[in-house]
Amino acid sequence: MNITRIPAFTDNYFWLLSSKNNHFATIVDPGDSKPVLNTLQNEHLILESILVTHHHNDHIGGINDLKKVFPKCIVYGPDDKRIPTDICVNDNEELNLENIGAKFRVIEVPGHTSSHIAYYFDKKLFCGDTLFSCGCGRLFEGTPEQMHDSLEKIQNLPDDTLVYCAHEYTLDNIGFAKIVDPLNDLLIEKEKKVIELRDQNIPTVPSILKEEKLINPFLRYKDKVIMESVANHYKKEISNSIEVFHHTRMWKDTEYD
Ligand code: ZN
Ligand code: FE
Repeated sequence: MNITRIPAFTDNYFWLLSSKNNHFATIVDPGDSKPVLNTLQNEHLILESILVTHHHNDHIGGINDLKKVFPKCIVYGPDDKRIPTDICVNDNEELNLENIGAKFRVIEVPGHTSSHIAYYFDKKLFCGDTLFSCGCGRLFEGTPEQMHDSLEKIQNLPDDTLVYCAHEYTLDNIGFAKIVDPLNDLLIEKEKKVIELRDQNIPTVPSILKEEKLINPFLRYKDKVIMESVANHYKKEISNSIEVFHHTRMWKDTEYD
């Protein structure tokens, strides 16, 4: 399977998956049709399906126009009236896209939105706005507990899983991660690498789950370092991982973004 990154808007990535044996393709979260149609045309691909992670417009805005060009294209997504799905998929469901040669597992990951889902296949995770490199999505609709549990599900995937998130937010996320976790050498190293990449306009994703577990403060809610940092900042005792996550998220929302 080929995976092509389609940059869009200021910092979105749409992920185009295509078979090496035929001309079929599927796209994850097409927020805009134009860059997708350009890529499909250049690579002589037929769009057979669309995978949607959540209802935000930068993830679904291109669906209608893509369906005009490819009327047979099937839209998969969570059960949510705000998304123009043809077929709804549920937690743990297997989604077999034979034309592409991929059998996805659907993972419910509420938090950023109430019906957010992710797609997992062959150690590749397409997680929309749930997990970013060195960060995570804002809690627009879900509770801290839901997001914590969603991130926990992601952390239970194999360590060498590649995380295909939907935005290039890494450098900005590192800015906040360094405030919470200033003595983390791996994070400082990562920042240097990311600055180099971004200077040359090279994407920093997909990231590797194993590395995220070491540098992303939003995955380290069980780590003493993050727990103490958050407790110090809020000058109160914080003992459980949901509260650590909740306060880390609040810290970024209220004092950084
Ligand atoms: Zn979003
Ligand atoms: Fe988004």
